[in-house]
Amino acid sequence: MDLTFYGSEDFKNRLLENINLYLALNHVEIIKSFLFNYYKNLSLLTAIRDVIFISFIYNRLVYAIRFISGYGLVGSIQVLFQNASKSFFAFFLSLPPFKKRVEQEVAQAITQMRDEMIVHDPKYNYFNQLPSTGLPEQEVMSELLSYQNIKHNDWKGGKVSGAVYHGGDDLIDLQTKAFHMYCVSNQLHPDVFPGVRKMESEVVSMVLNMFNAPKETGCGATTSGGTESLLLACLSAREYGRKYKGITEPEIIAPASIHAGVDKAAFYFGIKLHHIPLDKETYKVDMNKLKKFINSNTILICGSAPNFPHGIIDPIDELSELAVKHKIPLHVDCCLGSFIMPFMEKSGFEDVPLFDFRLPGVTSISCDTHKYGFAPKGSSIIMYRNEKLRECQYFVTDSWMGGLYGSPGLAGSKNGAVMVGCWATMVNMGEKGYIKSCQEIINTARKLKKAIQQELKELKVIGDPIASVVSFTSDKINIYALADKLNEKGWHLSALQKPPALHLAVTKLSIPIVDDLVKDLKDAVQELISTDFKPSDSETAALYGVAGSVKTTGVASKLIVGFLDTLYKT
Ligand SMILES: *Cc1c(COP(=O)(O)O)cnc(C)c1O
Repeated sequence: MDLTFYGSEDFKNRLLENINLYLALNHVEIIKSFLFNYYKNLSLLTAIRDVIFISFIYNRLVYAIRFISGYGLVGSIQVLFQNASKSFFAFFLSLPPFKKRVEQEVAQAITQMRDEMIVHDPKYNYFNQLPSTGLPEQEVMSELLSYQNIKHNDWKGGKVSGAVYHGGDDLIDLQTKAFHMYCVSNQLHPDVFPGVRKMESEVVSMVLNMFNAPKETGCGATTSGGTESLLLACLSAREYGRKYKGITEPEIIAPASIHAGVDKAAFYFGIKLHHIPLDKETYKVDMNKLKKFINSNTILICGSAPNFPHGIIDPIDELSELAVKHKIPLHVDCCLGSFIMPFMEKSGFEDVPLFDFRLPGVTSISCDTHKYGFAPKGSSIIMYRNEKLRECQYFVTDSWMGGLYGSPGLAGSKNGAVMVGCWATMVNMGEKGYIKSCQEIINTARKLKKAIQQELKELKVIGDPIASVVSFTSDKINIYALADKLNEKGWHLSALQKPPALHLAVTKLSIPIVDDLVKDLKDAVQELISTDFKPSDSETAALYGVAGSVKTTGVASKLIVGFLDTLYKT
């Protein structure tokens, strides 16, 4: 800037001094001097009040900024509108005339559910109270036998999705013998049952090896099932975040397709969970949307390999990269993938992406031995990259009156026989056994996928599942009505929502009858096309219609509660 034109040398120097002075006063100084002047005449109480007010405003502002940067401007408005609609209709339904009708209809549905679930048959004895004299063994056995005849969905024929993954007589025999031998054992007392401790530690070691955990630092624990493994992974991440990063308002980021066990963890452990939408074509988590939710409160990112609803594997490699970049733990839910995913490559399938500890960002993996590991129900493994992470799931107290106490998982006492059964199954199957079952199961799932893609034009396979689960939707027929039609034919596929779909988790039992399923699917689809279908004609369609509508928000939850209550009705 040439100032000579405006005046003397003296004037020029004075002007420059003033400009420099102004520049030296940065914003912080200005705010500081403002605050100093503002507060020097105020009482302590007013100052505290103002600080609380400002921090409240600040927190709201941060929340709003994170909300908008997560969902985007349009998305934020949509979410707010959805929530407002739900609140509006919920309020509407709580008004006396509507409330009464809803209550009546819910009660009616629950009564119907009870009539179907609770057997009232004079041919059975009922034990609502202790029998005053105990029953001799033979009578106990005959009671047990008679209950096996209660009408039920037949798993032996392989027409049920998932549920029983092996079901072979020889294996059941082995597990029963193992259970018999270790029936009284308790994992809480390794001094009394040292053999159980040995087998339990070997189960964890074998599974760590399968998932390529780091040899030096990899570690894990046994749990009662996939849900407990997920609960512990989330708890560990929360404690890790609190201990090492001082995070007090923890948040988890997970695909919308993540197992409900993560929602349960959020509910139990006071964590905020963000569900990230899936890519509309691949049904993998949308990475661009996921990234936007990362902030300083993020304690964990989750992905599935594969997920429960659609059997789709999230881009674990990209999630790993992101996790490394932001130094955030990453959990891979391989509960369902269990003993399928680790053996796919060795089974000769070439299209398997990396999903385990070989990816540097993966810090924990859950694997259900009681699914494709074929172990007795009640066993699963939670694995960690290092012991620091595992320690964060431990419960420890040194001040209990009952003595020094610590337990690795959620339970206290745990029957050791379940893990003994798991150990016996694993060493009995061996790597070759699991590779063979993996080949058979994947080939069957792919056969089903291909048949639906090529021979059932009315149905659409969701994404491109490469593992053991195949799900399908339809824009031609009501998929829930199809579920009911299949029920009539003895099939029990899982019903999914958002979008409405069905899935089959292929097990060893479904291998011989997949052709029957394709044929029954074709027949059922034809029957539906040729009839004039109304959603109210189908129980499942009606139920999911209620669950999916904003107008009846909350009603489906009431039905679920009714179902849970019914479990304990005698
Ligand atoms: C089955 C499953 C779980 C856990 O279920 P549990 O019933 O508790 O064993 C978790 N994640 C996925 C993907 C699953 O399929």
